Amino acid sequence: METVGLEAIERQFQRGLRWLRFSPEIEANYCREFAEHRIRRAPLWAVVGTVIYDLVFFGDATMVPDQLDALIFVRFAIFTPFAVLATALVLKWRSARNYDILSLAVVLLGGSLPMLVAMHSTSEHLFIYQTGNVATFLFLVVGLRPRFPAVLVGLVSLCAIHLTLCAQISSFDGISYQGLVTFYITISVFLALGAYFQEHADRMNYLNRIRATSLHQQLEIQSERDELTGLLNRRSLARVERELWTSDDNWSVFVVMLDIDRFKLFNDVHGHLDGDDCIRAVARAIVANSDARSTVFRFGGEEILILTPDLSCNEAAAMAERIRSSIETLAIPHRGLTPVGVVTASLGIAGGQTQEVSLQDLLCRADQALYDAKKLGRNRVSTASLTTLQRIS
Ligand code: GH3
Ligand code: MG
Ligand code: MG
Repeated sequence: METVGLEAIERQFQRGLRWLRFSPEIEANYCREFAEHRIRRAPLWAVVGTVIYDLVFFGDATMVPDQLDALIFVRFAIFTPFAVLATALVLKWRSARNYDILSLAVVLLGGSLPMLVAMHSTSEHLFIYQTGNVATFLFLVVGLRPRFPAVLVGLVSLCAIHLTLCAQISSFDGISYQGLVTFYITISVFLALGAYFQEHADRMNYLNRIRATSLHQQLEIQSERDELTGLLNRRSLARVERELWTSDDNWSVFVVMLDIDRFKLFNDVHGHLDGDDCIRAVARAIVANSDARSTVFRFGGEEILILTPDLSCNEAAAMAERIRSSIETLAIPHRGLTPVGVVTASLGIAGGQTQEVSLQDLLCRADQALYDAKKLGRNRVSTASLTTLQRIS
């Protein structure tokens, strides 16, 4: 299922479903699912429907023996191949519209062929014979279940065709014919109402289901994201760790730990709100200058972690330097510094193979390298454990 935005779903709930139609983006998804579901069952209905249809041959033989040859012809030489063809077509061109059209074609042909032949019969059993057509109405609404407009067109057409053909049968007197009209119109109204409410319930279920899926996805995203920066949080670090460290591949992974310089002072001088803006701006610069393979986490207050698999040592160092320089280039004034300067950050890099070193070890080494960068005067990149890095590059 493609995801539909939660807002579109809520709007649909407010608008209601009286006309059994969603807004275009939801309708397209619904129709895809509808077609998939119906077309999966189409071969079953084709076999059951056609076998029963052909078995009515025994009814033809007892009730309309004078037209048996023609009835055998329409059942076995016209309807059966047509039903097979219609099933093949719907399996090939899988769409809700094609399903509706072919369902209609099958029931209209199936419902009219025997009566077209039987109306020329002189049999005295025609009144009971024609009741068999009720099965066609049921097959459309209960079996094939196309979308409601197709059900409506099908019921009206079946009624019109059946009653027109029955009107040609001279052995039916006026009262019998009126009874037939009442009977077919009544069952059509009941079936149409039933189909409407069934589709309404199906669609509401669908809407509730996609709302639940969408809410779940939103919750998952929210639970993995830091609210201030939109970066991933530490909770998702555990997931990424599981993905990389439990894989059979021996990934080479670099972690870069970044900490904004003199940030306590920045908060004291500029205020906490400007501090928040500063963290956001720094986070954006980091994301913009990280490698495409990197995942960026807000690790702590103003500490950000960049985790990148499949990177060479030189690439990792170049990326860290790019990030450092981009933060300096932001030129966010830091009035707490003497002389007044701009916001900068220090970065510590550590790398290793996932089958040789744990994430915890890498984080400790990157933290140590970061501490070195601070000690060496800040606004710089420091790399940990050169021996490890050389092994990876
Ligand atoms: P150093 O250069 O050694 O890193 O000095 P520092 O002052 O930056 O020291 P440290 O990294 O320990 O300071 C972290 C400060 O970051 C403390 C806290 O006030 C601030 N901070 C942490 N989280 C947030 C936040 O979400 N918003 C704001 N505005 N400040 C934060
Ligand atoms: Mg810090
Ligand atoms: Mg700091």
